[in-house]
Amino acid sequence: QKTIGILTSGGDAPGMNAAARAVVRAALKKGMRVIGIQRGYNGLIHGEMVEMNMRSVSDIIHRGGTMLYTARCVEFREWEGVLKAKKTCEETGIDGIVVIGGDGSFRGAADLSKAGVPCVGLPGTIDNDIACTEYTIGYDTAMNTAMEMVDKIRDTSQSHDRCSVVEVMGRRAGYIALNTGIACGATCILVPELEMKMEDVIAKIKEAQSLGKQNFIVLVAEGVGGSNEIAKQIEEATGIESRATVLGHVQRGGNPTVRDRVEASRMGYYAVELLEKGIGNRVVGLQKGEVVDFDIQEALSMKKEFPMDLYKIANEISF
Ligand code: ADP
Repeated sequence: QKTIGILTSGGDAPGMNAAARAVVRAALKKGMRVIGIQRGYNGLIHGEMVEMNMRSVSDIIHRGGTMLYTARCVEFREWEGVLKAKKTCEETGIDGIVVIGGDGSFRGAADLSKAGVPCVGLPGTIDNDIACTEYTIGYDTAMNTAMEMVDKIRDTSQSHDRCSVVEVMGRRAGYIALNTGIACGATCILVPELEMKMEDVIAKIKEAQSLGKQNFIVLVAEGVGGSNEIAKQIEEATGIESRATVLGHVQRGGNPTVRDRVEASRMGYYAVELLEKGIGNRVVGLQKGEVVDFDIQEALSMKKEFPMDLYKIANEISF
């Protein structure tokens, strides 16, 4: 009987539970044994795990966070840690693992695959910053949360004729900022992929102001940062009262959206099919809406293009 493990690693994201549920159920249905490994690679090194059955993943598809817990594990970055994890797998009879996480977690999955335990990665991060896939689990929920928050800020911003500078998550990627910005009618969107000068931001606000606009939303990605300073500069240059709000971890939580639940279920199922065939060292992703898989090293070396066409549209219709 084949035994597979499942773990979530790195930053959590809504939809990780839906993915774990799909993996557990698909594997059990195929007659495999499934072990839930807690707190990422830590659980693998220190033997924190539970045997999963059909009911172990009941009542979680609609919940944010991860019932398997997640963690960062320094020990696992060393080869010695990887070998310890491999030993746990041998002792427990785990002969394949599904790792739900980001690029860092995939590097770990590649190492463990090299050590002889086939691993399949599932992209789980709200930032959508994984190159091999056009979509990551958690991304849709995070954008919808950010959108709802900005809508609320907009109400008060509108009542006071203010400019609201809102910082959303995305340290290396501006996808949340770009999409939320479009969805909320932001006048300016600042992302780490593109350099934008403060004078251009101010010029854009002034131009919109000259067209009769009285309240403004400026969306800033975490990777650009400095939203308080940006608000201050806007106020100084335009005389418009400006306030900054950093949305922070609220974007990481909440019940996953339909899209996150469905894509997590599809990708989770696919990961089990790979492990069933004994295929490891792969990352699952979505390309043109289809579920596909890549060699982990190849996936990690890929680059994602910033959607300039979308950015252009955002800029041209936000006055
Ligand atoms: P994410 O998976 O969200 O990118 P991290 O970068 O924090 O998050 O990675 C999660 C975990 O994956 C780390 O705590 C570590 O255990 C493992 N990991 C990260 N980078 C490597 C690496 N280069 N080699 C081996 N394991 C790694």
